[in-house]
Amino acid sequence: MSVSIRLPAALRPLADRKAVVEVSAATVAEALEALAARHAAVRAHLFAPDGSLRSFVNVYLGETDIRALQGPATRLKDGDELVLVPAIAGGAPAAEAALSPDELARYNRHVILPEVGVEGQKKLKNARILIVGAGGLGSPMALYLAAAGVGRIGIVDFDAVDASNLQRQVLYGTESVGRPKLEAAAQRLRGLNPFVEVVGHALRLDAGNALGVFAGYDVVVDGTDNFATRYLVNDACALLGKPNVYASIFRFEGQVSVFWADKGPCYRCLYPEPPPPGLVPSCAEGGVLGVLPGVVGALQAVEALKLVLGIGEPLIGTLLTYDALEASFRRLKLRKDPACALCGPHPSVTRLIDYEQFCAARRPKEEPMSVPEITVEELKARMEKGGVVVVDVREAHELEICRLQGTKHIPLGEVPQRYKELDPQAEILVHCRSGARSAKAVKFLQEVGYKKVSNVAGGILAWAERIDKSLTTY
Ligand SMILES: [Zn+2]
Repeated sequence: MSVSIRLPAALRPLADRKAVVEVSAATVAEALEALAARHAAVRAHLFAPDGSLRSFVNVYLGETDIRALQGPATRLKDGDELVLVPAIAGGAPAAEAALSPDELARYNRHVILPEVGVEGQKKLKNARILIVGAGGLGSPMALYLAAAGVGRIGIVDFDAVDASNLQRQVLYGTESVGRPKLEAAAQRLRGLNPFVEVVGHALRLDAGNALGVFAGYDVVVDGTDNFATRYLVNDACALLGKPNVYASIFRFEGQVSVFWADKGPCYRCLYPEPPPPGLVPSCAEGGVLGVLPGVVGALQAVEALKLVLGIGEPLIGTLLTYDALEASFRRLKLRKDPACALCGPHPSVTRLIDYEQFCAARRPKEEPMSVPEITVEELKARMEKGGVVVVDVREAHELEICRLQGTKHIPLGEVPQRYKELDPQAEILVHCRSGARSAKAVKFLQEVGYKKVSNVAGGILAWAERIDKSLTTY
């Protein structure tokens, strides 16, 4: 019978670097003897001096340990595959670490990489990676980590899938809209790879639960889009000594790094304090090219896999930036801040804090903006009555998606130059998409002396929801 014997990475250097050796044999014992006869150096690893099979080598025929069959006397048929699985140093049960023939077949393109091999694939199988946020970055990460065979993939998210997610969040399909992201993600990932365990954490991460969730994982990958969670993830990882694979994206640009306080800088070394709210727009406000989180999230997945496999040079102490329009990558050196409040020699942050408050504390004194407001129902009534000026402060391209009839258009950025176009005696009602930018415009107009000016709460989105459902929203 012609049978093949699949060798573990550790034995391949002794067998001309082959992953698979073909032999002719009628039983398992004959096959192993033929292997040892062809590659003499393998013999001492397989057989004790008395000729018996060493106990730390497990032999599988198909998916079955030969001890559950007839042991070395088990008969073979043409085309059978034997898999040699040595016990892992450190006492991990061989059964847990072992890969079935189905898994070996699935991960073939990994297993034939010398840098991964069966040993590396087992590391992936035994690895536990937590993805914080199942959005634009989390989508490609989750798909590739599951495809790669990462044994346990945790996902923290509490959102439902929205139609506006589908432009970039490739974990979900049109049929997922309205479903909890965790539910849709788990179904997709299990369909992709039934050998991985997907653990959903349906919660809003905070100082009270982060350490407990993170403790069950080896690597944390941050796919969030807000500063409070970013500092929380950074601090929790540093306190637990775990690596944090970081990324952020905006419009056409992304950045990736690995923050691992034990070996390099942390996020606080880079940014000791968050920017004031409103200064840095989010993707929801500024937009993002749909494939950008695909590129950046895939880079994060690469870094996470490198950390698990212990190969290559992880982005510790390096910020990799990507500019999609320029098609350029840059590597920037990051230094550990000797005065870092978290990972410096004299830390003042020694436990998790209230991150919402930490980030809100950066808020300028006058916020939250208290300006006169009207509802969209009142806006409709006033417009019908006439005698009011309605100002739309959105950007021109946003007006192409939807607009209200009879409004004056002054983008927020042009208000300081153009406000004199507005009659100070008139009643002025300002709107934007959701009400945030128009509040700033109202604040400005009040400061330059306009008395009868109000903000339209909820903006054109509220109008589309409650007054005119035929409007296209974005
Ligand atoms: Zn630091």
